Amino acid sequence: MPRDFDCIVVGAGLAGAALAVGLARFGLRVAAVDAREPAAASPGRDVRGLALALSSQRLLRALDLWPVLEPRLTPLRHIEVSAMGHFGSSTLSAAELGLEALGHICPADHLLHTLDAALANTPNLTPFFGQRVAQIETTAARVEVTLQSAGEPAVLSARLLIAADGSTSAVRQHFGIEAQLRDYQQTAIVANIDLENAAAHTACERFTAEGPTALLPLGGKRHVLVRTVRTAGAEALLAASPADYLNDVQQRLGWRWGRCANLGERRAHPLMLNRAKALTAPRTVLVGNAANTIHPNAAQGLNLALRDVVALMDALKDCAAEGGDAGQAATLEAYARTRVDDHARTAGFSDSLARGFALDWPLVGMARSGALLAFNAVPPLRHALMRRLMGATARVPEWLRSGSAHA
Ligand SMILES: Cc1cc2nc3c(=O)[nH]c(=O)nc-3n(C[C@H](O)[C@H](O)[C@H](O)COP(=O)(O)OP(=O)(O)OC[C@H]3O[C@@H](n4cnc5c(N)ncnc54)[C@H](O)[C@@H]3O)c2cc1C
Repeated sequence: MPRDFDCIVVGAGLAGAALAVGLARFGLRVAAVDAREPAAASPGRDVRGLALALSSQRLLRALDLWPVLEPRLTPLRHIEVSAMGHFGSSTLSAAELGLEALGHICPADHLLHTLDAALANTPNLTPFFGQRVAQIETTAARVEVTLQSAGEPAVLSARLLIAADGSTSAVRQHFGIEAQLRDYQQTAIVANIDLENAAAHTACERFTAEGPTALLPLGGKRHVLVRTVRTAGAEALLAASPADYLNDVQQRLGWRWGRCANLGERRAHPLMLNRAKALTAPRTVLVGNAANTIHPNAAQGLNLALRDVVALMDALKDCAAEGGDAGQAATLEAYARTRVDDHARTAGFSDSLARGFALDWPLVGMARSGALLAFNAVPPLRHALMRRLMGATARVPEWLRSGSAHA
């Protein structure tokens, strides 16, 4: 006999886990399936620092997770943007907008731990860790998912299937949804380092022809260094001794922040654009990286994904309250329509940054310098972009405004 739920979320990564918790809090019976083990089983797996925008903060607060995250969050007050080998730079400051912070840096492991604890402790929610989807069958009224496991395969049944299973989404492939793909031929090597004379609450992003190098503050001297390189050269950098790697980083950063030291584990992330050409299939909807995997140059992927989460929660809220059919096509299409604009703008922005800065031709370089100078000289332009990147222009449904996601 299949186990019965209102919805099955395949992929309990950062987006899927947040969505599963949110929908369960609205009263829907949710199964959350992930191939991974709970984060506590592999601490230090993800050494990234994630820049959380205001829109993400609002959702995490409504899920009562913000106070748990807060002790390890670093408010971001300044962002310095420059381009290697070209004049012109720009500093974005929270104070310009009359704000305390432009966003917050959260250690990725801490966010996943916090979400995993919520997956384990939220009523109406059943997590299935260490389980992959083996088979999907859809009928007019339901969707059935068979999980791959060593023993008796578990079969789950629900009205709605949510694909939150990342960029290579097996659910998306099952339904034959095509994607727009672009391999940037870049790999982000992420590691934590100490900077002797760190500027407090300041992130830096320097665009180079190989891709951007970014420093994100984790508090005190500790920083996340995201170094983007051409994929062909990534292996050698990962294999370099810590001393050689730090020397190389020091040469690139210069001595402005003093000596770089205490290199942590290095992790490689190949970078690509992978955008689904449709967000829905029968009784199925796509969110997060399964819908849009984008270049991390503007720190927008998770923020975009959590705006998907808010939009889908909003679309399903009434149905949860009234016991309606969570998987009906009209509801899913309505969700998809609300996401088109944000997806296109956010993915388009990071893609044009990735491609514009990858061209190392002199005239393109001058245009980039000019653009940075113009950006500095025109505050309304700068402020409009800052507000959008902060998620300050995102629609805020009533339940989110009130700061609480409950049935
Ligand atoms: C270097 C780097 C830095 C970044 N920095 C930022 C940042 O500062 N701010 C920001 O907003 N975004 C950032 N991002 C983007 C962000 O990491 C992603 O947008 C976000 O992780 C998307 O979450 P997701 O849950 O949709 O996908 P994922 O995190 O990929 O999760 C997918 C989940 O699905 C599971 N899964 C996959 N297939 C199956 C299957 N068949 N069955 C069961 N489970 C399955 C996986 O185990 C995984 O847990 C960054 C990305 C990179 C690469």
